[in-house]
Formats: sequence, C-alpha cells, structure tokens
Amino acid sequence: MRGDCKACGAQLPVDAKTCPGCGAAVPAKGKLLPLAAFMLIVILVIQSYMNKEEEAATEAAPSAPVSAAEQ
Ligand SMILES: [Zn+2]
Repeated sequence: MRGDCKACGAQLPVDAKTCPGCGAAVPAKGKLLPLAAFMLIVILVIQSYMNKEEEAATEAAPSAPVSAAEQ
C-alpha cells in the first residue's frame, strides 16, 4: 500500500520519510501494519510450537511403560 503526499498529492515510495516531489515530511502511518504482521507471525509460531509439544507428549507416553515392563 502506497500513500499519497497530503501536500502535493504525489505518490510516495513505501518507506519514504519525505515526499520526493515537494519535500514534505511523511507521517509514519505505515508502522502499524508491520507490527500487526509481526504479532500474527509470533502467534502462529507459538501455536505451532504448542502443537509440537502435544505431539511429543502423546508419542512419549506409550514408550515409557514398555521400558518399565522390560525390567
Ligand atoms: Zn509532496
């Protein structure tokens, strides 16, 4: 998503801090979107990590009684 300069209406590059057309300062409005995307990724990583722990717990549970019965 690209913003337009509020001063002159020119199209601004994604990470422009000043307008290339008129030099006006561009408000850092787009910083919220990367933050939301980052939080989404963190949540997905945590969820997949918890799923892996559940799988490991269910896999490890049956093997423990077998080794105990051998003794
Ligand atoms: Zn401008």
